[in-house]
Amino acid sequence: MRIDLHCHTSALSPCSEMTPDEMMAAAVNVGLEGICLTEHNRVWSAEKADELSQKYGIAVFRGIEVTTTGGDILVFGTETEPEGLLTPQQLKMIVDAENGLAIAAHPFRGFLLFGFGMLQMNVSDALDNPTLSQVHAVEVCNGKVTDEENNFAGQVADALGLIKVGGSDAHSSEAVGACVTILHNPARNERELIAAILNRQFSLERAK
Ligand SMILES: [Zn+2]
Ligand SMILES: [Zn+2]
Repeated sequence: MRIDLHCHTSALSPCSEMTPDEMMAAAVNVGLEGICLTEHNRVWSAEKADELSQKYGIAVFRGIEVTTTGGDILVFGTETEPEGLLTPQQLKMIVDAENGLAIAAHPFRGFLLFGFGMLQMNVSDALDNPTLSQVHAVEVCNGKVTDEENNFAGQVADALGLIKVGGSDAHSSEAVGACVTILHNPARNERELIAAILNRQFSLERAK
């Protein structure tokens, strides 16, 4: 089952230029069988997500991209929208209480350009990043960061034994499906999606 794990629509993410209908049409167009709504600090209602799913005939999973003091963290399995700025530790407590999944989103975005490159930071230095001790998985294929930054995230994830995931982080139709997650078995709901990721029953494909 081909899905995109990370998408934003203008319905709940003001920074996205893509309406929910445009996202769904793009997903169908590139052959996806499911898509994840991961708006910034907002969760879609199950009813509205179901409506979209029915209308376009592909699965719609609900997650959230939470802004934390340690960077953006994608969460699945919670309906809780954060009040104020959380630390990664605070968010992880919420996620664990709901048996959810926490993913460090684009953990090194911009760093190799503006930070790590200049500081000559290497993988072993990055292992101390406190956010990475509060997540199950790391995005190693994010459609909005450079290949270098994705590769760096992959090396860090390997060193820490974290699950390596990916998503387009689409804010426009053209970006949908840039990083595809191929689930070995179809997921019917968020719980099955979480189990598939935690059990590493998937592979990644960089499409664009
Ligand atoms: Zn983000
Ligand atoms: Zn995002």
